[in-house]
Amino acid sequence: MSSAHDILQSVFGYTSFRPPQDKIIESLILGDDALVLMPTGGGKSLCYQIPAIVREGCGVVISPLIALMQDQVSAMHLLGVRAAFLNSTLSASEATKIEQALLAGELDLLYIAPERFSQARTLKLLQQSALSLFAIDEAHCVSQWGHDFRSDYLRLSLLHELFPEIPRIALTATADERTRKEIISRLQLDHAEKFIAGFDRPNIRYRIALKHNPKQQFLKFLKTEHEKDAGIVYCLSRKKTEDIAYWLQEQGFNAYPYHAGLNVNTRADNQNKFLREEGVIIVATIAFGMGIDKPDVRFVAHLDLPKTIESYYQETGRAGRDGEPANAWMIYGLQDVIKLRQMMEGSEGSEEHKRAEQHRLNAMLGLCEITTCRRQTLLAYFGEELAKPCGNCDSCIEPAQTWDGTEAARMALSVAYRTGQRFGVNHLIDVLRGGETDKIFQFDHHNLSSYGIGKELDNNQWRSVFRQLVARGLLSVDLERYGALRLEECCRPLLRGEETIELRRDIKQKSAKQQTRTHLASDVDVALWEALRECRREFAEDQAVPPYVIFHDSSLQEMCVTLPQDMTEFGLISGVGERKLEKYGPAFIRVIADHLAT
Ligand code: ADP
Ligand code: ZN
Repeated sequence: MSSAHDILQSVFGYTSFRPPQDKIIESLILGDDALVLMPTGGGKSLCYQIPAIVREGCGVVISPLIALMQDQVSAMHLLGVRAAFLNSTLSASEATKIEQALLAGELDLLYIAPERFSQARTLKLLQQSALSLFAIDEAHCVSQWGHDFRSDYLRLSLLHELFPEIPRIALTATADERTRKEIISRLQLDHAEKFIAGFDRPNIRYRIALKHNPKQQFLKFLKTEHEKDAGIVYCLSRKKTEDIAYWLQEQGFNAYPYHAGLNVNTRADNQNKFLREEGVIIVATIAFGMGIDKPDVRFVAHLDLPKTIESYYQETGRAGRDGEPANAWMIYGLQDVIKLRQMMEGSEGSEEHKRAEQHRLNAMLGLCEITTCRRQTLLAYFGEELAKPCGNCDSCIEPAQTWDGTEAARMALSVAYRTGQRFGVNHLIDVLRGGETDKIFQFDHHNLSSYGIGKELDNNQWRSVFRQLVARGLLSVDLERYGALRLEECCRPLLRGEETIELRRDIKQKSAKQQTRTHLASDVDVALWEALRECRREFAEDQAVPPYVIFHDSSLQEMCVTLPQDMTEFGLISGVGERKLEKYGPAFIRVIADHLAT
């Protein structure tokens, strides 16, 4: 495997493989098929790029992400790899040129969109060319269960039939068992070696807090931790993404909305700004993200609760692909639960489907309410065990306090019962706290035995009790009557005094001390950092690529720490291969020298 390792160093500028990259690359070079499941940011691309370079012929990458192909190819060019793409954005003459280069054996890598691949013309072209491998990126798109299904992917079964001797590698970050099986059967990968990497993303810090004043909470988070960083903010509705984006602009942030209802140009424009400029925030519905290959997204924030742990994990996974510290930050409240349950009830689909959705939502709520390590719970959900608490989630950093909520929970359940299970949380709290609203007198609720018995807890504390009872399925939200709370069968033991319940104590604001900036290492000189970024920006602009294609933040950070002063030293920086050393080394070394001289 020395040639693969040589290429890792000389072309990519990295010192070692991240397991199981080495094994995957080895088996492809030997001509075997592979199925690769690796989390976002795990380093899937190298698994086919290196074998494509090592093996005779051109590696064909099938990817649905047309918008990214240009950047992927530019990034390869900067490394000195002969790469090109074929998709609908090319003119006929441009496409012909690339076809000729392929036939002449002048390409190491060719990216093709799936709809292009299945055209007779393309198949014929490929049959006439020397090929080293097929890489099927985002392989879960072949699954009809998944939300990213593409019918063109079904045609990829042709690969096996038309090119039986060419090794194939299918790659995805989607974990679940059913999708995995479907990929194997549809792409006929039964004999492929399966490489399933752990799903943990240790550099992501998970935090889930209670929603009380969403905008202020979010603003504080941004100002203390991500003043100049790129990030993605997820909201449930299109309107809200726009509201939040414009509000962020007023607060001085470079923020743009993104959702399926915006016109195509605006959407492409906003996405481009996010990819090309630094420190841009995108406020999006779930429509945004697939194939966003930006490695330096420093935070993903959820201002609304995602429907499932799968979506939460996929969305938060877009943070920190470069392996540097990143934040997954979420706030949620009772209203989120009510809204989601309503959306589900109103959605089409069988009873069975709805039950499955409820089930997934409950798991998501469970994650929000747990008092133990979030990462352990997340990984356990995907069938992976983490032996020790992670030390990098809110539960680990600032252990949640619990309290014996048995008596409060009983009061909450009985007030819902005594008022006929027809009222929402606000009214129930009014009754418990002995309020004097019109509604109370209208319904005679001041004569109930529950009236005024809950004065020890304030409004927020009661909301917390109700939220946790709903999250744990002891109360349900009646969807016929907006937000009315109903008792569920499983609350009986608690009501009868046969069970007790521990509740999470909601902490309003985390202590500011914990919220250190996660990004820049403390020994990095900010002036040098900014100067290096400026140098990178100039090159990026000059070559019309995103800055991270020139160098990742992690490479710049390493420069700040090791202060390389000649080409040999500069060549040791991770991410500096031969081509980049030659092209950018002198300019960056000069920036460092100037900095040291001042
Ligand atoms: P994925 O496609 O799995 O989401 P990528 O292939 O984009 O991940 O890789 C994520 C980042 O990790 C990229 O910036 C890549 O250059 C970097 N990377 C991959 N393998 C290595 C390695 N062996 N050493 C250092 N960095 C690596
Ligand atoms: Zn933890």
